[in-house]
Amino acid sequence: MDISNLLLDFRITSHCNLGCDLCFRNPGIKDSSLSSALNVIERMYKMGFRRIGFTGGEPTSRDDFINMIEYAKQMGFMTYLSTVGHRFTMDHERLNSILDWVGIPIDGIDRHVNSEIRSDKMSNQHRVIKNILTWLPDNNNRINIKLTTVVSQSNINMLSDIVSWVEALPYKIQAWRFYQFCPLGVGKEKRDKLEINTDLFTYKMKILKKQHPGTPISWATFEERDKANVVMEPNFDIIIPDGENYTLLGNMLTNSPEEIIDAIFGNNEIMQKCENNRFWLDEREFIV
Ligand code: SF4
Repeated sequence: MDISNLLLDFRITSHCNLGCDLCFRNPGIKDSSLSSALNVIERMYKMGFRRIGFTGGEPTSRDDFINMIEYAKQMGFMTYLSTVGHRFTMDHERLNSILDWVGIPIDGIDRHVNSEIRSDKMSNQHRVIKNILTWLPDNNNRINIKLTTVVSQSNINMLSDIVSWVEALPYKIQAWRFYQFCPLGVGKEKRDKLEINTDLFTYKMKILKKQHPGTPISWATFEERDKANVVMEPNFDIIIPDGENYTLLGNMLTNSPEEIIDAIFGNNEIMQKCENNRFWLDEREFIV
């Protein structure tokens, strides 16, 4: 993997008021200004990065998040947005020509499971997905849709019901990633309630894929996700998930390009894991 293929997740804010039990952000980091964020995006481009993800926190809680995506697309980045999707149909017209992928979560198809795995504020998340996948066919959509499901004790026995429910909606998604619950960040406190065994997770995933051959299902265990994505915090610290914590690799603004490239690409384990974690990206073309 070279620098142009690595998707770097830029947490543009650590803010989110949805209070999910499974959240693995580091809360409380101050947002950067728009101008310094654009500066860093440009710096990344000059270093050779070509893939950028906008994540959080909830990235759409910043009212300038579209400016950042727009700037990155104008520079020539492949752009990805990870959001709960509450604003997606409202923002779609502006995003449609500048966003390559959006990732939106669905962990259950009833209020009880959504509340248990996430929070009461997210209890209607399946309705958000339903609205989006019902709305998209009539709106000239160019954005690839990726669903994400965190598999935990709360939903492990209803995964096939969730997939069947989505399959019945009119828009066909381009990727669906299932993740074994990771006790990271805020989510660490909830491990007794949510954590599941890796063998059970893998077994359930293989069955699910067999049951739904027409849906682009793939998955990653906690171990496969560990060290498998490079994240930039709102203060431009570059970190990777490492066991139950994060390891700091450097800072995009204050370290030299050589130091950053060496910290990320000098580690073969990180590179191999990042490549395996993002294969679904390579199966589609990007907006240019
Ligand atoms: S998981 Fe996402 S939606 Fe939930 S609290 Fe964390 S940032 Fe917000």
